[in-house]
Amino acid sequence: MLKQPIPTKIYLSEDEMPKAWYNLRADMDPLPPLLNPETRKPCTKEELEAIFCKGCVEQELNETDRYIAIPDEVREFYKMYRPSPLVRAYWLEKALGTPAEIYYKHEGNNTSGSHKLNSAVAQAYYAKQEGIKSLTTETGAGQWGTALSMASAFYGLDLTVYMVKVSAEQKPFRREVMRTYGANVIPSPSETTEVGRKILEKHPGTGGSLGCAISEAVEKATSTENCRYGLGSVLNHVLLHQSVIGLESKVALEKYGVKPDIIIGCAGGGSNLGGLIAPFMGEKLRGEADYRFIAVEPETCPSLTRGKYVYDFGDTGKITPLMKMYTLGHDYIPALTHAGGLRYHGMNTVISALYDKGYMEATSVSQTKVFEAATLFAKTEGILPAPESSHAIRVAIDEALKCKESGEKKVILFGLTGTGYFDLFAYKRFNDGEMVDYAPSDEEIENALAKL
Ligand SMILES: *Cc1c(COP(=O)(O)O)cnc(C)c1O
Repeated sequence: MLKQPIPTKIYLSEDEMPKAWYNLRADMDPLPPLLNPETRKPCTKEELEAIFCKGCVEQELNETDRYIAIPDEVREFYKMYRPSPLVRAYWLEKALGTPAEIYYKHEGNNTSGSHKLNSAVAQAYYAKQEGIKSLTTETGAGQWGTALSMASAFYGLDLTVYMVKVSAEQKPFRREVMRTYGANVIPSPSETTEVGRKILEKHPGTGGSLGCAISEAVEKATSTENCRYGLGSVLNHVLLHQSVIGLESKVALEKYGVKPDIIIGCAGGGSNLGGLIAPFMGEKLRGEADYRFIAVEPETCPSLTRGKYVYDFGDTGKITPLMKMYTLGHDYIPALTHAGGLRYHGMNTVISALYDKGYMEATSVSQTKVFEAATLFAKTEGILPAPESSHAIRVAIDEALKCKESGEKKVILFGLTGTGYFDLFAYKRFNDGEMVDYAPSDEEIENALAKL
């Protein structure tokens, strides 16, 4: 095999960018279907099309086509910021004194500051194609709202973003980026929807959560003419779009004859992780290769590690379809961690099924440990990472330190999902020594699960 010195960054040419998304479900057993919340029967295409664009629904229900072509217009947009670099973390390896090789796929090289643009562009493209005039969505940390704002501006669609209230307060400048791209940003829960008013009545003074904001955005989409809802994670069409992360990583590593032993991703709703691992997991499922996969979640919101694998709603207001997933319960409002993008009670159904069947591992980490890792990464690799991404950095460092003890020369790949320039409030808390950890008690989790 070709073995030449590996440069710090492996760039692909635009030609090497994937021409099709990879649909991991084609290599899996069929998943438990989405259920209509009222009838508890499998959701029909028509029901889903009342909420989402047709192009996305078709992909959501497609469990058979292994590859789905990326429309030319979407590929052209991707070229504004893709292919993204795959970086060898030489300086981090050196600082750790590990024999392990560490690589990261850097998805923060665009204005949204995260991988979320990969799906936003596709969703806005299908909406435009179908004659939809406006979109609604929710945003936690703000990356998804920014990504969909960028995509909506590009395709000339109006956008309303329900932004989790605490994030809106902690990151006022995020809101200005979205407004610059023309989005209308409303802190959630709000008085503008029926479900928002109900949540405010039940939890006065709440800082909100992704689950609440989703309820509001879905209500707005279904009650507005020619309007659809776009989701930034959790659903399988989003995972499909994010497969570009894994496909590019695989091509780049193969170019240098490198095969990862361990693949690590942070897990909020599961989209970046699902996208990163997809082509590698496909090989594992087909018996062609073996890898270790690790999902990393915050200890405040441990859906995989402490949740239950059952049917649950995707939102707090119980208006979304039911999904069979690892969940802490739709009523669970996670404590305020600084990784807003990971504060989601549930988990994508593909990731949930793979974890349930033992194809992957999961672990949870505390935020002070996460920020220690973020700081070391910033000092050695020069990039200020997002708190969400730093969950993956934490575990990559821990695995590299295990190699230092055992002397094993493992190859570690992790997803650097975004940059932390809008998370300086969190970095301030950490630098001032004011960051505290919080793990929910068993009782708290049992109470939330009891309501299922
Ligand atoms: C949204 C987000 C995540 C988590 O979302 P997933 O769907 O689990 O990938 C992770 N990192 C960043 C930077 C994000 O914006």
